[in-house]
Parts: sequence; C-alpha cells; structure tokens
Amino acid sequence: MTKIKKKKPTHAPRVPHQQVSAARPRKTARGFAFGKGPNPTRIQTILAKLDEAYPAATCALQHENPFQLLISTILSAQCTDERVNQVTATLFPKYPDAKSFAYANPAELETEIRPTGFFRNKTKSIIGASKKIVEDFHGEVPKTMEEILTLPGVARKTANVVLGTGFGIASGVVVDTHVQRLSQRLDLTKHTDPKKIEQDLMKEIPQDHWILFSHQLIWHGRKVCQARKPRCLECNLESLCYSRDKTI
Ligand code: SF4
Repeated sequence: MTKIKKKKPTHAPRVPHQQVSAARPRKTARGFAFGKGPNPTRIQTILAKLDEAYPAATCALQHENPFQLLISTILSAQCTDERVNQVTATLFPKYPDAKSFAYANPAELETEIRPTGFFRNKTKSIIGASKKIVEDFHGEVPKTMEEILTLPGVARKTANVVLGTGFGIASGVVVDTHVQRLSQRLDLTKHTDPKKIEQDLMKEIPQDHWILFSHQLIWHGRKVCQARKPRCLECNLESLCYSRDKTI
C-alpha cells in the first residue's frame, strides 16, 4: 500500500478570534485607539464637555477665606464635605482666625472635630499649621507652594486646594480620589501615585484650566463616574472613554 505523504501547512496556524481582538487596540466611534493615551484634540473635547456639564463647578467645602478653607481641607481627609461643613458651622464662629486655633485647647478641639474622624492627628495639624501661620507668616496663609508646604499637615493636595480655590493661583492640579480614578478611566494617566498623576495632568491640561478641571472631575466622579458602578449611560464623556470599567 502506497503511503500518502501529509502536506506541510503553507500558512500560519489560525489564531482564535478572541486572541486577535484582545491584541488589537479598541476604537471608539470617534476613532481614539485604546492605550494610545491623550492627544491635544481629545483633551480639548474632554474639557469642552466638562465645561458644558459643570460650568460653575467649585469646592463644596464652605469657607469665607483661605484660612477657613485650609482648616476645612485638613478636616476633609477621609470624611465627607457635608460632615466637615456641619462641624465647621460651629467651629469657625468659635475660632475666627489662625491665632485662636493656634492657642486652642487641644483636648477641646479634639472633641469638637471628632465627627470628622482621625481627630487627634487633625488637631495636631490644625494647631501646628495655625501656629506656623501666626509665627512665620504674620497670621496670613502663605501664597506660594513652597511656603504653604512648610505648614504641618499640609501636603500637595491641600496646598493645591488652598492656592487654587482660596487664592485663584494655579500652582498644580488637585488630585483626590475622584481625580485619580477619572484620570485613569479617561486615560489621562497610567500612574496610580497622586504625585505622578498630577505631573501628567499638568503636562496635558492647559494651566488656565487646572483649578476648574479638578472641581469638574470631582463633581463628575460624585454624580456620574462613581467608583463601583459608573453611570456610563448618563455620561457625556462616554464617546471619549474607553475605560475597561465602562458599564455599557
Ligand atoms: S463612560 Fe463611564 S467610565 Fe467613562 S467617564 Fe463616563 S461614567 Fe466614567
């Protein structure tokens, strides 16, 4: 019996469909390829859509001056803005300026801010920052990033809030948990470290948008692009978003 020789395959083996599509960059209706990162046109469109949805977004912490905003921002760590506003409604009339906080009774202040959580550390930060403001800055919150970072308990996020919203000085971009999550979902950064995210955003977003942009992302994060279940159907950035977290 003659043995029939098997022909060698003349083409590469077929790759299952799923493997092909996983390797391919996904494209949205507008043609932005997954993983390619931001481009100026796309950024401008994102900014325009945020302006459209949140034209007057601002800080939800109630304050009458930069010093009160500083205290509220310290209190807002791991706490809702609503709770902070409830506490400061009675706190600010009792402690009207930096001097009154600087020489406050620590035990008393701890009790007063207890509902905001982490009240011992927050008391130390508030008294420490107030003392420094009184002793080194004539009772006024300093207006430069370099100086404001010398205040105890003040890191870049708090400094950016106070300089941006309190003084209207765009020294950086506030990166809180919402800005962090949305910057990743909108592919404005690949980083998880807030400092690196801020550096990316400062390169990509025009400086005259830094202050408003972070407020807008915070509002969008609270109302629509929520952490666990983003409401993508209601999102006006949907056509620009190729996040794997999308719910549609
Ligand atoms: S489409 Fe969804 S995931 Fe993307 S930004 Fe909007 S809400 Fe967030």
